[in-house]
Amino acid sequence: NFRCRSAFKLLEIDDQFRVLRPGYSVVDCGAAPGAWSQVAVQRVNSAGTDPALPRGTVVGVDLLHIPPLDGAHFLSSHDVTDPTTHAKLLELLPDNHAHVILSDMAPNASGFHEMDHEKIISMCLSLIDLAEKVLLPGGSLVCKYWDGILVQKLQARLSSVFSSVRTLKPHASRKDSAERYFLARMYIKPGK
Ligand code: SAM
Repeated sequence: NFRCRSAFKLLEIDDQFRVLRPGYSVVDCGAAPGAWSQVAVQRVNSAGTDPALPRGTVVGVDLLHIPPLDGAHFLSSHDVTDPTTHAKLLELLPDNHAHVILSDMAPNASGFHEMDHEKIISMCLSLIDLAEKVLLPGGSLVCKYWDGILVQKLQARLSSVFSSVRTLKPHASRKDSAERYFLARMYIKPGK
């Protein structure tokens, strides 16, 4: 049983692209109430459910409270865009790095589309700073955005540090919503 229907979007993305593998370390941004983390825990085996497979790590972050989940560490009441959160995340990750960054983060919608669009894009851009600190070379990022004029800019920024960037619209995402995801793979650490 998942805490939220959003789980089905990540399941769909992962079934198609196999972003999450046993033993991987994952950062889940905007994790509350924890459905994406539930999916991640299963797929990276961070609760050790299958003793024959390597055991991964899931660390979730949200401004809100995230109820405890077996196999996950949560930083509730933390802002993903705040560099002090990045430092805490690093400490919770084995060898201070992650294979995957997930973000289903969204601002509280004001109803003014351009303003909401700008806010979510700037959240996505801050994930590029987070990646620079925690993401392993070759790592992946999945991030939600709302379609609009700044998407090109975000896509260009992602393409400057990931070899592969594609847009996804999972079936589980309402057809009439502006919601989309970027799947960025093969991270290239700047300066390396
Ligand atoms: N993926 C989650 C799940 O499956 O349970 C649902 C995430 S919900 C759509 C978006 C979340 O992003 C909200 O819980 C919100 O509090 C969080 N959020 C928004 N801005 C944030 C920020 N700056 N730092 C951390 N979390 C943030």
